[in-house]
Amino acid sequence: MGRLFAIEIIYRGIFQKTLATRLSRSIVLAAHQEGKMGISFGRYGDSPERNGIPAKNFAIVATDEQTLQEGMAKYEPKQVDVTIAVDDTLCKGVESWAWYGLQPVNRLLKPGGTLIVTSREGPDAIIAMAHRKETPYNLAIVKGTVSFSGLWVYKDDHTDVRILGAIAKVLPDLFSLTSVQKVIMDQWKDAIKAESAARAYERIGTTTVRTDQGNPEVPYKFDFPKWHEMGEGIAIPSIPAGRNMEDPVSHVHGGFQPDRNPTFKKFSTRTMRPVVNFDTCIKCTLCWLHCPDSCFDVTPEGLYDANMQACCGCGVCEAVCPVKECVTMVNETEFGDNASQWEAWRNDKEGYQAWLAKKIESHPERSHGFRYRGQYEEQVPEMLEIARKG
Ligand code: SF4
Ligand code: SF4
Repeated sequence: MGRLFAIEIIYRGIFQKTLATRLSRSIVLAAHQEGKMGISFGRYGDSPERNGIPAKNFAIVATDEQTLQEGMAKYEPKQVDVTIAVDDTLCKGVESWAWYGLQPVNRLLKPGGTLIVTSREGPDAIIAMAHRKETPYNLAIVKGTVSFSGLWVYKDDHTDVRILGAIAKVLPDLFSLTSVQKVIMDQWKDAIKAESAARAYERIGTTTVRTDQGNPEVPYKFDFPKWHEMGEGIAIPSIPAGRNMEDPVSHVHGGFQPDRNPTFKKFSTRTMRPVVNFDTCIKCTLCWLHCPDSCFDVTPEGLYDANMQACCGCGVCEAVCPVKECVTMVNETEFGDNASQWEAWRNDKEGYQAWLAKKIESHPERSHGFRYRGQYEEQVPEMLEIARKG
């Protein structure tokens, strides 16, 4: 029996599909340089990979054919040596299509395995986002801005080769830096990319995450009924209409909070969230009308509170709001919960304004979108500079 290596790449559907594919493919090719064999594949098909929904690619490599066959006789690996999260906000948990409930980002990691994250944050911020694990694991951060590309366009900011260099360092039995550089030169004939991989290899460091570190919350989950628990016939319960809301200060009832799907929450799709300045809102209803996920709760005084359990972070509300900086999309890494902003504002308006100003000031520009020709070419030099500085 030989040795089996399993690597999973967690990415945001559509926005990072090409990046994940390039990574899993290159992992297998680099291992192949050293006489190993393997396969790379996507866990989910095209249709659920929409709007940033977390999805996965896997690279399975073995030292011999029989071990590979055995390793592949599963729908998805039960354990992996390395998990790669190409967006740091995925560390809050993953609610993939075809997965029920919230899956901790480190769930499949073997004891002592390594989580590689692309982020500008430090280890403390990443550890705080990830759920606690029953066994210690290692965290390695590839410093850089999260790379959003798109299905048809690719932002060649060296994120892929930098992660390959990091893998060579944290899992040297899989492949060496030399093999990574050989694959880079074979595929892209780009010496600067090979140099980026080497730089990541030299600079990457790991932090051991203890079992008492991380988000202590138990990720939400639910069970399907067993076949013997099902009644005759099929009844699909509809979602109730909703109810009015209670003002936390005056206790007045009014407005409207729609009922929502209790089992699919969508917030792990989000890389940004809207923050609302309730003091400048003119109650025009545009955010409520245009939100594709019916996220807005209507408060008793007719304001609009984006419900963070339901918001997928698309940014439409920011785009349609006619009041300058009334709605601002802020990097999801800035937040530790899904609490109501309106309730916070009602309880302490001055405190809320101070909180809001801080959140808006500290948010780095993020964008999933490919908005115009030449956009990525404009953005790449800055991203490479961040990568260069490490
Ligand atoms: S970002 Fe705004 S428009 Fe988009 S889902 Fe969230 S609340 Fe709705
Ligand atoms: S679009 Fe802006 S101004 Fe209009 S209701 Fe929504 S938050 Fe208020």
